[in-house]
Amino acid sequence: MSGVRKAYGDVVALDGVDLRVAAGELVAVVGPSGCGKSTLLSLVCGLEPADAGTVEAPAAALMPQRDGLLPWLSALDNAALALRVAGASKAAAREAAHAHFVRFGLEGFEKARPATLSGGMRQRVAFLRTLLAGRPLLCLDEPFGALDALTRTQAQTWLAEALAREPRTVLLVTHDVEEAVLLADRVVLLSQRPGRVVSVLDVPLARPRARTEQAVVELRERALAALGVAE
Ligand code: ADP
Ligand code: MG
Repeated sequence: MSGVRKAYGDVVALDGVDLRVAAGELVAVVGPSGCGKSTLLSLVCGLEPADAGTVEAPAAALMPQRDGLLPWLSALDNAALALRVAGASKAAAREAAHAHFVRFGLEGFEKARPATLSGGMRQRVAFLRTLLAGRPLLCLDEPFGALDALTRTQAQTWLAEALAREPRTVLLVTHDVEEAVLLADRVVLLSQRPGRVVSVLDVPLARPRARTEQAVVELRERALAALGVAE
């Protein structure tokens, strides 16, 4: 996207945003609450138009900020939903989704309703649904924002592993600088609303990365400094 502006009435959410994501790249967009991160994803996914500037994106699958699971469907049918929407039969969609259940730590929970699953499991179901949509670009909106610290760390690990197995182009939105540095190839830092790109950091480190790694700590500090966040 380039020169993108989006306002809701008097509230300017994004102003003059340029962003490019190369095929196969994982780009994290980080910024304070309300700076327009979810808005940016909805523009990329074509859910709403920009007021100015251009947005060019391949077909994208969105994992919304709240997991978006349907409470009346089982875990398996929630995971299979994108395939059903794309026209697969119930049996074929379930079979394709179920093939991932063991690796996603969901085996035995096929029939469970979302409300009975842990937060981490719900996120895995939601991510699996997004993955199975089969789109070249995955847009993940604060996928781990609602998880406690330990579950969040585990979730970051399985996300990295899942993407290592099935590489995709990923646009990950988070307010957590450390999460961005642990997962992304590139970190795009947005200002307070209206969101503008204040800095872009390359993260040329092999994965998996440890939060205690010197280079990770340094990049995290650089990112926080660029955001103007004093520790
Ligand atoms: P973030 O995801 O970074 O927290 P959002 O993109 O959700 O930020 O929102 C950016 C700003 O735009 C906020 O001030 C929010 O209240 C406003 N906003 C977002 N969506 C709408 C909408 N549909 N109608 C009106 N205001 C909106
Ligand atoms: Mg948001």
